[in-house]
Amino acid sequence: MIILDGKKTSNDIKAEIAESVKEITANGSRPPHLAAVIVGDDGASLTYVGSKVRACKRVGFESTLIKLSESISENELLEKVKELNSDENIDGYIVQLPLPKHIDSQKILMAVDADKDVDGFHPTNFGKMALSLPTFISATPFGIIELLKRYNVDSSGKHTVVIGRSDIVGRPVSILMSQKSSPGNSTVTLAHSRTKNIEELTKQADIIISALGVPNFLKAEMVKEGAVIVDVGITRVADNSQKGYKIVGDVDYENVSPKCSYITPVPGGVGPMTIAMLLKNTLLAYKG
Ligand code: NAP
Repeated sequence: MIILDGKKTSNDIKAEIAESVKEITANGSRPPHLAAVIVGDDGASLTYVGSKVRACKRVGFESTLIKLSESISENELLEKVKELNSDENIDGYIVQLPLPKHIDSQKILMAVDADKDVDGFHPTNFGKMALSLPTFISATPFGIIELLKRYNVDSSGKHTVVIGRSDIVGRPVSILMSQKSSPGNSTVTLAHSRTKNIEELTKQADIIISALGVPNFLKAEMVKEGAVIVDVGITRVADNSQKGYKIVGDVDYENVSPKCSYITPVPGGVGPMTIAMLLKNTLLAYKG
């Protein structure tokens, strides 16, 4: 069993990006600049945004964190988005989800300039991704593909079962795995909460990408010998630690890992890759 080490791989990618930034600034140019908008005080969102900003510093990017009140109106947030769209010193930005209920997230994401949409959530970028055109691919699916690529995991002609059909993980990664590319060229089954007999599908899978957010959902008896397992799930489960919680994936790692050829741990798998690919997209945005 080989661990798909997202932490190490993301550090490799960050080192490559830092090298590019050094070359850019050595020529007297300004470094790439990522901005992050966060609305409200959700603990998990603040943690995610904090790690994105820290990662920017590490590779030499400039970063701006824009913290807005939970009570901001949709129009005020749209104004902020417009401001960021026209700010020439910002190459890319993200609007951290989820947004408060009184704000239509889709409306906000649609207003982001597609050329600055380093999260790859704008329909233009999602559409380009689906057509295999160069674009910003959302960081989590992009990170999964990059991890498989760097470990030379062969997906051609394999059966990939993706569990979860969200716009930000399951659906895009199912498209990428079915594309005529490497990694890709897989025969993909996309499962979700209405899928019947999910175990029959997962038992046939050569590759399982689990993105549902249900701790220990994928059990050893659901996985065939030699399968590749990518665990995207991140759930905070209360414990007695100082933090008061631990991060748990979708996969029963202890019992599933001995059966696998490759597996991502949680934490240290897909999570760190997501941040590295966001930085990669920002560098792409900078280069235009
Ligand atoms: P989401 O929008 O809640 O989507 C979950 C998907 O799982 C839905 O399609 C849902 O089906 C399906 N599902 C739920 N329960 C199921 C069940 N019992 N059997 C089969 N399918 C089921 O979640 P998401 O945003 O994609 O995130 C999924 C997980 O990945 C979460 O734990 C999240 O925290 C994590 N995540 C991690 C990263 C990272 O960087 N590692 C990034 C993003 C998300 P329906 O469509 O039918 O409701």
